[in-house]
Order: sequence, then C-alpha cells, then structure tokens
Amino acid sequence: MTGRTHDLAAITALLAIICLVVPIYNVNLTTLLVALLANQIGGILPDIDQPTAPLWRNLPVGKFVGRFFDKFIGGHRFITHSLLGVALFGFLFWSLLNFLHPIVANVDSVIVWWSFMIGLLSHLVIDTFTKEGVPWLLPLPLKLGLPPTKTLRITTGKVIETLIIFPALIIISGILLATHYSYLLQLLHHV
Ligand SMILES: [Zn+2]
Repeated sequence: MTGRTHDLAAITALLAIICLVVPIYNVNLTTLLVALLANQIGGILPDIDQPTAPLWRNLPVGKFVGRFFDKFIGGHRFITHSLLGVALFGFLFWSLLNFLHPIVANVDSVIVWWSFMIGLLSHLVIDTFTKEGVPWLLPLPLKLGLPPTKTLRITTGKVIETLIIFPALIIISGILLATHYSYLLQLLHHV
C-alpha cells in the first residue's frame, strides 16, 4: 500500500481502538500529540525496508542509506513486515520512551507506546490484502495474504486502493468520529 493509505489506516485503527475497545481518559495535550505522532511513525515504519520509503526520500543521503539498509534487513517485505519485527520495534520504542521519560515526564509512555504499536500492526494488516502478502511468521518464509487467492488481492497504488480502500478508511473514520463525538470531545476537555 502507499504511504498515505498507511497513514490513514494507522489513525483509523487508533480511533477504532479508543472508541470501541479501550476508551482512554485524562490524557494531557503533550501525550495526545506525541501519541498521534508515534501512531503515524508506526504506520509507515515497516516500509523502511524500501529504498523509496518517505523516510529515506526526505533525508539528504537517504537514497544511498536506504539502498544499503534494504540489503541489510533482507529486502522489501521481510523482517520489518513480521511479528518478529513488530516485537523488535516494540522493544526498541519502549526502551527509547524509558530513556526519554526523565526529560518528558508528563508524557504517558504507555498510551504513546500502544498508539505506536497500533500504527505498526495496522501496516501489516493492510499490507496483507496486497498481492505481495506479508511474512507474518518469519523465520518461517511464508508470505500470507487475504484473500488466500493471490489474484483476488490488491495491487499497491492501483485503482482498488485509490477508489475503494482509501475512501473506505475515510468513511470508517468519519463514522467513528460522528458516533463517538461526545466521548472524543470530553477527551479533549481534559487536555
Ligand atoms: Zn509495507
């Protein structure tokens, strides 16, 4: 999927979780902003294994580093697109939050970490619908996809992603915002 679909999927997943599964209360403004940022970073992070990823494109020597990094971690849709990669990213991000905690003590690390992890997992889930599939169970070299028949899956950046998946994510976010308006508004009152 493209970067913008992943960004939207990450925020939609976050909204769905806090509206439908685990409501959150008493979140301060710093936590809210850092959590949103972490969610968006998590949502595109697995694609650092692509030399053309936004992260590498936006750095001065990014293309070169990206190409080297791509080889180093096994090429596109390898470890960063697996549960092993999710665990590794989760551990590294938690360590970073712990390290930064004395500097930004008013940030709720647990909320920020979960927001990051939701973004990260949303990436793998949505990539599962593409033709390429996702090696969820590495080191088992098996790329899994939904539906299991490859020809029925989506091609990244093509018409189904642009005209169905992307608008569908906007509609789901819109429905969540509309149906949980007072809860979300009350969340903002605490900031
Ligand atoms: Zn990906």
